[in-house]
Amino acid sequence: MRYLLLSDIHANLEALDAVLASASAHGADRILCLGDVVGYGPDPNACAARLLHAGITTLAGNHDLAAIGGEDLSRFNALARAALVWTAAHLEPETREFLRTLPARLHEPAFLAVHGSPRDPAAEYVVTTTVARRNFEAETFDLCFVGHTHIPAAFVLDEIGVRRVDVEPGVPLTVPGGARAIVNVGSVGQPRDGDPRAAYVVFDAASREIVLHRVPYPVERTQAKMAAAGLPQPLIARLSVGM
Ligand code: ZN
Repeated sequence: MRYLLLSDIHANLEALDAVLASASAHGADRILCLGDVVGYGPDPNACAARLLHAGITTLAGNHDLAAIGGEDLSRFNALARAALVWTAAHLEPETREFLRTLPARLHEPAFLAVHGSPRDPAAEYVVTTTVARRNFEAETFDLCFVGHTHIPAAFVLDEIGVRRVDVEPGVPLTVPGGARAIVNVGSVGQPRDGDPRAAYVVFDAASREIVLHRVPYPVERTQAKMAAAGLPQPLIARLSVGM
C-alpha cells in the first residue's frame, strides 16, 4: 500500500493542484490530508471541494476548527487571526459542513496520522526532541505522520534515544525495525523551511520507505488573489520565500 500524505494546504489552490497533478506519477493507493485545509489563503471553498470530490481522507487542523468557531481565535497571532476572520466570513455552507466533520486522528495498520501531535492532535507543535519524547511516552504508535509546523522533519526513537533527522527531497528515509518515528510531511500551501515549493510525502507501507517531494506552483497567481481579497501583506510576501 502506497500513501501520499499532504498537510497545511491553507486555502492555496494553486499549490494543492500542483501536488495533486504530480500525485499520479507516484502510484499512490490513497491520499491523506493531515489538516489545515483553510486559513491564510484565498481559496478555502475550492480547496475543500477538491478534497471532498477526490475522496481524500482529511483530518482537522487548528485553522479548520477556528474557521468554524471550534477554536478560540485568541490562540492565534494577529496575522493568522485576521486571515481566519476573513476565512470565516467567506466559507460556503458545504465547506463549513465538510470542516465540521473532520476527525482528529486516523489509525491505519501501518501508522497513525494527526495534525499536530499524537497526544494533542489539534494544537501541539512537535519541534524539539523533548516534545517528541513526551509523545513517544504518552502514546503507543510506531510511526506517526504529522503536519502543523510547516517544516518537514523526522524524530526517530531507537535504543540510543530520540534524535531529529533532516528530511531532504528525493532522499528516502527508512525507519528501521524496532525504531519509532514522528514524521512531519511539510506544508502544501505555506512552507516555512525556506523552500517555497509545495511539500508532500509518499510512504510505502511494505518497505516502510518515506520520501519527501517538492513541487513548484505559480506563487504569483496565489499572491494576486490574496491581494485582491485584502489578506494581510506579510502573508502574501512569505509565500515567495517559503518562510
Ligand atoms: Zn498550518
